[in-house]
Amino acid sequence: MANGRYDLVVLGAGSAGIAMAVRSARHGAKVALLEPGALGGTCVNVGCVPKKAMWFAAELAEAQKTAREVGFDVQPGALRWPDFVARRSAYIDNIHAAYRRRFDEVGVELVAEPGRFLASDRIATPTRELEAGHVLVATGARSQREPIRGGELGIDSDGFFALRAAPRRVAIVGSGYIAVELAGVLRALGSDVSLFARGERLLSAFDHELGDALAEAMRARGIELAFGRKTAAAERTADGFALRFADGDVADGFDELIWATGRHAVTSGLDLERAGVALDAKGFIVADDWQDTNVANVHAVGDVTGRLALTPVAVAASRRLADRVFGGKADAKLDYANVPTVVFSHPPIGTVGLAEHAARALHGDAAVKVYRNQFRPMLTALAHGSEKTRMKLVCVGEDERIVGLHMIGIGADEILQGFAVAVKMGARKADFDATVAIHPTSAEELVLM
Ligand code: NDP
Repeated sequence: MANGRYDLVVLGAGSAGIAMAVRSARHGAKVALLEPGALGGTCVNVGCVPKKAMWFAAELAEAQKTAREVGFDVQPGALRWPDFVARRSAYIDNIHAAYRRRFDEVGVELVAEPGRFLASDRIATPTRELEAGHVLVATGARSQREPIRGGELGIDSDGFFALRAAPRRVAIVGSGYIAVELAGVLRALGSDVSLFARGERLLSAFDHELGDALAEAMRARGIELAFGRKTAAAERTADGFALRFADGDVADGFDELIWATGRHAVTSGLDLERAGVALDAKGFIVADDWQDTNVANVHAVGDVTGRLALTPVAVAASRRLADRVFGGKADAKLDYANVPTVVFSHPPIGTVGLAEHAARALHGDAAVKVYRNQFRPMLTALAHGSEKTRMKLVCVGEDERIVGLHMIGIGADEILQGFAVAVKMGARKADFDATVAIHPTSAEELVLM
């Protein structure tokens, strides 16, 4: 058995693990990166990257209809799904190759095996035993299904990426990021989509006006939305899949069933108890603001911690951890406040900072002032469409500091990043007012409220 001593052993080569491994190696650390699966984890293989590819395909499908609407002599056609998947896979292969080049360049040793703890500073793989100065657990999360009868039927988001054609009739259970994104893509690519939410609105953690506006837009696209639907069982019938709800109702006749009911940490097989690493009640690893666990020199970053499960968060937190542990920057840590996020729904949502209800709860009603705006974007109006873009600023205090910025509509995904800088810097409403608009754009409406 080959043994080795490393300054850092990283478990999992997803967004968090790769960022930590590369930055630490650049600081001169001797690093082993353990990954039995595909490089890049969820984001690259079954998350952000292939999802965005499918979202682009869906956007193009919608654009064909718009083009026809404004006078182009085109007949919207169906996507040659397998061909598109080949392009998507080739794009992902390039990312894998780029990672390998970077590991060679900075001297990260990639071990294509799973690792498990023997002790807090000893990791075993099937063929090796590694001594570790520090360990980063970055093993990510996987979709979870309710333990209900028939809960094993159908697919999850991983299964969505294995599809090679649009199912004719799809049921999606859930109402978070994944549920609404997949619903929008599948609808645009030709499926009849029904979404079943257990609560009363989509994206319940977001500013409520976003979820409500998205529901309106999804319905206008022909997506069937059902709220207050607690799924009690799933079944296979002669006619496809059926869902049975807690109130006794049944929905049936689906060719595909997609579960999008949240995710759980991947910790099984790590033997965390041998190191004494603590988990929270939901099974996520407890990590503090410094990404430290309760065990000295064992760190955790990314989806496995259950905290803001977003790739850029994982990358940023890992880089700061590497800078602190190996780069001499004692104060380096990620500030989790005002992290911008985009939901690639149809239309997309961009949001940063506090939802209105959260701002009111935190600062009191009297301190909160809200500005809103809604309009038909020019292209929508030219195509005689009715969908509105909505924008909202949540301000606090006498000086109207902007603590929340929320929008839904064409371009929201690309508009958000720059405005997130302003919010992070503590922009006031007056700063927005003092900024000259860019005309004609949708983004200008944010400085014209
Ligand atoms: P989310 O946390 O966004 O949503 C989980 C959803 O599952 C909620 O709507 C929740 O409903 C619902 N749910 C949970 N249990 C049940 C149940 N038994 N029956 C019906 N619904 C249920 O998780 P996702 O899995 O969609 O995404 C995981 C994470 O990945 C996201 O939180 C996000 O951090 C990240 N992600 C980011 C994306 C992006 O940046 N664009 C895209 C996709 C994922 P309720 O609201 O009632 O609690």
